[in-house]
Amino acid sequence: GYFLFKFLVIGNAGTGKSCLLHQFIEKKFKDDSNHTIGVEFGSKIINVGGKYVKLQIWDTAGQERFRSVTRSYYRGAAGALLVYDITSRETYNALTNWLTDARMLASQNIVIILCGNKKDLDADREVTFLEASRFAQENELMFLETSALTGENVEEAFVQCARKILNKIESGELDPERMGSGIQYGDAALRQLRSPRRAQAQSAQECGC
Ligand code: GDP
Ligand code: MG
Repeated sequence: GYFLFKFLVIGNAGTGKSCLLHQFIEKKFKDDSNHTIGVEFGSKIINVGGKYVKLQIWDTAGQERFRSVTRSYYRGAAGALLVYDITSRETYNALTNWLTDARMLASQNIVIILCGNKKDLDADREVTFLEASRFAQENELMFLETSALTGENVEEAFVQCARKILNKIESGELDPERMGSGIQYGDAALRQLRSPRRAQAQSAQECGC
């Protein structure tokens, strides 16, 4: 059995969101010669400290270019990668707007990891690690610099975010039973670990798929 978390990848166009998703799912860099429409959705099962978590990850599918990322995109997300490009101050300056939207349209409790992507382009850097890590601290975000090109810290970003959500479930800070939490259990057995009585009542109605 496994947990199911809805994840988002947000941030300005061109920061590498689609490439991060592709690298995470396919373990390779999505190069530009591939002109197929970007992945809009990906899912992967990861093991976090012995627990299986299925991540359902939504990519903006280019909507961010028109500043029209829809409410339905955000709805019920448990976690998010908030991405900027370390070689573009403009993408860093946009982070506050993305954060406001995520907390307003997804949930106040959404767990967010800030990703300074294109870490491999250090020579063209416009945003220092220190500056971004301070921003992350002030806004209660986790923080990593990533490279969708080399794969550095890509898996880590998703895993760290999932681990934080699991910790919050275990501490009771997050309630997976709450509507729109973005968290589901993949089977009734795991659910029983947390609330045996409710689980038995519900398992009768579940198809187990
Ligand atoms: P999105 O608009 O946020 O989905 O960005 P894309 O994933 O489409 O990437 C935008 C551009 O940045 C493409 O030309 C990618 O090849 C490039 N890119 C993405 N991630 C990286 C990275 O980690 N390093 C480098 N050097 N280029 C990247
Ligand atoms: Mg994209």
